[in-house]
Amino acid sequence: MSAILLDGTLVAKQTEQQLINRVKSIRLKNGYPPTLATILVGSDLASKTYVRMKQNACRRIGMESVAIELPATTTTEELKEKIFSLNSNKSCHGILLQHPVPRQINERLCFDAISLQKDVDGVTCLGFGKMSMGQRTFGSATPRGIMRLLAAYDIKLAGMHAVVVGRSPILGKPMSMMILNEDATVTVCHSKTKNLPEIIQSADLIVGALGRPEYIKASWIPDGAVVIDAGFHPNGCGDIELGPLYDRVAAITPVPGGVGPMTINTLLLQSVIAAEQKL
Ligand code: NAP
Repeated sequence: MSAILLDGTLVAKQTEQQLINRVKSIRLKNGYPPTLATILVGSDLASKTYVRMKQNACRRIGMESVAIELPATTTTEELKEKIFSLNSNKSCHGILLQHPVPRQINERLCFDAISLQKDVDGVTCLGFGKMSMGQRTFGSATPRGIMRLLAAYDIKLAGMHAVVVGRSPILGKPMSMMILNEDATVTVCHSKTKNLPEIIQSADLIVGALGRPEYIKASWIPDGAVVIDAGFHPNGCGDIELGPLYDRVAAITPVPGGVGPMTINTLLLQSVIAAEQKL
């Protein structure tokens, strides 16, 4: 068996073509393009790179991005003030607060200061709650991107046993709820889970989202499974040992080129939707 390659680069490119037209018509009706405000606190190099990639992606589809850079000494109150001013700024449609923020800042309070209408990265508790209840809202960008990738390849989740490894607020937890909402049976694993290899042995769908290079071994994964690797590490590998799997699973995300491009693409898509809802 040769696995279907879940090609995030390709799906993201196709969507960008459609988004270019939607951005054009928003610009015509509004007089200005959809605008994403990116907030970077401090000077973490990886965060800077991620923000730059998101700004470049905005530019590719004709969106505006406004870069807000705050010093590493910023307080929770100062950051919240900035977010409140963006919430009431009519020319800003979406707000991205780059994670992580410096330690003295209460990140959760600041995420939750973002208005639901502008939460295009899907980080607020309110958004998570609405999504979990199956209501229309923006979803956390990485898991929503994964769901869009599965849908693009017509992979139906109903009845599957899905094992999600990781339970972070931006990835594992919302991922589990999105998959549950598609009628899969979901097992959520984390650092205290016992017998991870045995649990994965019974999975039809595995999502690796734990942040440890190739921690999930190919030998744990059953033949014919759908394999999603959300991890990305500096040496170019993910959280799953993917190499031996390509000729014995049903579908697989490459690293890089699987989940990563879908995350940024989902941020763009949700920003365009936010701007359309303002028309
Ligand atoms: P995180 O906040 O560090 O969360 C890691 C999760 O994995 C936690 O829930 C942790 O459990 C669990 N975990 C850690 N070690 C484990 C182990 N040995 N066995 C089982 N579970 C374990 O990480 P994150 O932000 O969710 O990111 C996860 C991965 O996705 C990283 O590789 C990151 O680079 C990648 N990522 C990719 C994108 C993208 O766009 N491609 C976006 C975001 C993240 P506890 O809760 O018990 O601590």
